[in-house]
Amino acid sequence: MDTDLLIVGGGPAGCAAAVMAASVGLRSVLIESGGALCGALRRIPVVRNVLTATNGPDLAAAIEADLAQCDLCRVELGRRATLIDAFDDRVEVTIEPVESVEPVETVEAAGPDRAPGSRLTAPYVVVATGVGPLGPEGAGWLGRVDGRALPQLWEADPAAIDDRTVLVLGADRPLGTVARAHPELKARFVVVYPPEDTYKTEEIRRDPRVELVAVRRLELGPGSASAPVIAEAETVGGERRTLTADLAVLNLGSAPAPPAGAVATDRSGYCPPGSQHPRVFTAGDLRSARFQRIATAMGSGGEAALGAYYASRGLPTETGGPPTEVGGPPGPTGGG
Ligand SMILES: Cc1cc2nc3c(=O)[nH]c(=O)nc-3n(C[C@H](O)[C@H](O)[C@H](O)COP(=O)(O)OP(=O)(O)OC[C@H]3O[C@@H](n4cnc5c(N)ncnc54)[C@H](O)[C@@H]3O)c2cc1C
Repeated sequence: MDTDLLIVGGGPAGCAAAVMAASVGLRSVLIESGGALCGALRRIPVVRNVLTATNGPDLAAAIEADLAQCDLCRVELGRRATLIDAFDDRVEVTIEPVESVEPVETVEAAGPDRAPGSRLTAPYVVVATGVGPLGPEGAGWLGRVDGRALPQLWEADPAAIDDRTVLVLGADRPLGTVARAHPELKARFVVVYPPEDTYKTEEIRRDPRVELVAVRRLELGPGSASAPVIAEAETVGGERRTLTADLAVLNLGSAPAPPAGAVATDRSGYCPPGSQHPRVFTAGDLRSARFQRIATAMGSGGEAALGAYYASRGLPTETGGPPTEVGGPPGPTGGG
């Protein structure tokens, strides 16, 4: 075995798994395809739902510092896990260098050079590869987009949308992040979304810059000189509306893309921890569409590492036995 625990993905979930593993004496190797840990956090200018953190870049830097102190974890940046195989006695992870990123090992004692397609072996793996943005082809309500390569909202330069009307395709959370981070922006956001995403609009519906349009269907046609974006919408009320804007951006949500092989997915493409091979633990955003938050990613990463630890000691994670009565004495099994 190369280590006690392999961790794939260096976001908050994978990093939390690494420090939790170290806290119970497990050595780990963390494989991250990007050039730095917590790349997603670095793009979140304002954070309001994580204890002690107010913005993503500072949190990413703090996590990076924690990992640098973690002697039992070796971080390998610029390497992508392409295949995960799970066997009765071990897991094997195939890794490839990412050409656009110079591979870096942040280690006490550097590991061996890795040839493309090399494999790492361990008793357990935590898979925490997060989610990636959905394209228009994944949104059934969105018809023709007129061959346009539309940018993602969360990648948009605020200066490029100031004083503009922006047609936002989808009501996913990045709009709330942009609105909170840039109260000074004078942009007008026309947000079109399918009715099943209404719950996502709650954090932005009171912002006076936002107009919400729930649609059954939207077709994006060619623009004109006065309105570069023209879209024909059929609203949920059956009304036909022509929407005009200076630019259109995608904000459709995200989907997991775990490495091929042993990671089990459900019908929606997510990877619930309870459906996995006993040597495979999933953590963070790729578990579910519903719990995609920094704090839950960290919590689930820690739990995944503890799951591997208890499994390695032959200890069940459920302590078993009938429930104790409310207010009754605690059961015989202690914490640990
Ligand atoms: C614009 C925006 C704003 C947000 N705002 C908030 C907010 O205010 N509060 C909040 O709680 N949450 C927010 N989130 C959500 C939050 O960022 C995620 O819930 C969190 O980052 C999930 O952590 P994770 O570790 O599961 O995944 P990620 O942070 O996505 O990390 C996954 C890592 O795995 C790596 N990876 C992927 N595939 C491979 C592979 N095959 N091999 C090796 N490495 C791989 C990726 O490079 C990435 O670094 C926001 C998200 C976005 C996009």
